[in-house]
Amino acid sequence: MKKKRILPIFITHRGCPTRCIHCDQGVIEGVPPTLEDAFSSLRRLLRQWEGIPDEVAFYGGDFAGLDAETLEKVLSESTRLVREKFGVTLPIRVSASPLTLTESKIARLKKLGVSTVEVGVVSMDGEVLHRAGRRYSPKRVKEVLLGLREEGFKVGVQFVSGLPGDTIEKFNYSVKSVFALKPHFTRLYPLVVIKGTPLGDDFLAGRFIPPGPEFHILASALHSAWARRFRVSVARVGLHTPSNEGKVIARPGVKNIRQKGEGLFLHFLLSRLRDKFGSGATLKIPSSWRTIFREGEKALRYFPEGFPSVESDGVAFSDRGYEGVVLSLPEKGELLVDPGILAEEFSKEVTVWGAMV
Ligand code: SF4
Repeated sequence: MKKKRILPIFITHRGCPTRCIHCDQGVIEGVPPTLEDAFSSLRRLLRQWEGIPDEVAFYGGDFAGLDAETLEKVLSESTRLVREKFGVTLPIRVSASPLTLTESKIARLKKLGVSTVEVGVVSMDGEVLHRAGRRYSPKRVKEVLLGLREEGFKVGVQFVSGLPGDTIEKFNYSVKSVFALKPHFTRLYPLVVIKGTPLGDDFLAGRFIPPGPEFHILASALHSAWARRFRVSVARVGLHTPSNEGKVIARPGVKNIRQKGEGLFLHFLLSRLRDKFGSGATLKIPSSWRTIFREGEKALRYFPEGFPSVESDGVAFSDRGYEGVVLSLPEKGELLVDPGILAEEFSKEVTVWGAMV
């Protein structure tokens, strides 16, 4: 499928009902501080842009938190600039918090022609939300997602793994319960700690210990597995790319988190099949899974010995796909094992991180 070309407009903390403890959009996106600066940067971007984008997207703040007048001004000015350059009106995508996506705001976004809403869910655990400074409940998230679906929006959800109080069980519940509500797509941002944020202060003072790579790999495995199960498209798993690297003071410390997570889950599935069919069996999987399998091998290094894994010499990769009697792993399709089992199995060893100490 062709990747969408999205024209991004950063509104820098505009509309944010709170300052979340981990967030410094100004640092993460290197964005300008005022709306006028945002329009200047849009004009610059438009001058360089070749071809027609598929969509305009507002990121970096809480779009539904803007007051009515600002919201209309931002939409009309950006629509005008886009029409001037491309001669067309493009579909609009916005990001917003469950707190500000009230019934009346949802209706207004609809009226103003917004087609896609990305909801910053973050977590479905009350304690994690509270400690992150997000002032809504998991119940509210459900109401908002159902309301958006009912109004016919394309709905995206965003999660953060590893915030204070987060555990594998909580993360597993978060993705499972949200994906069961059938959003269209999802993003996962493993936590980075940025200097100058409240979480950065806690980290530097030794009051917060960020999770290690294994936590984020496992979270990514669960995120991908449940997404597959509920047919939710994974738009992204990865860190924000900071404009000022020097301000990032803690990060997961592992590359290719998405592939490692998927690979970990693949090893888990294969080990279950190996248990069923015996160690003499050859497991045949499509060639397209080769990279994921290798990343899974690398991911296993982060876990204690004895965790489910399959030796690569017991696995055959085939372009012809599913000729083996032992295993067929369609690219898209039902998973063979409930992803929740992965959480149960692994969380015995992956202990609770992210607690304030
Ligand atoms: S996480 Fe979202 S709502 Fe929270 S401060 Fe950052 S941009 Fe605003």
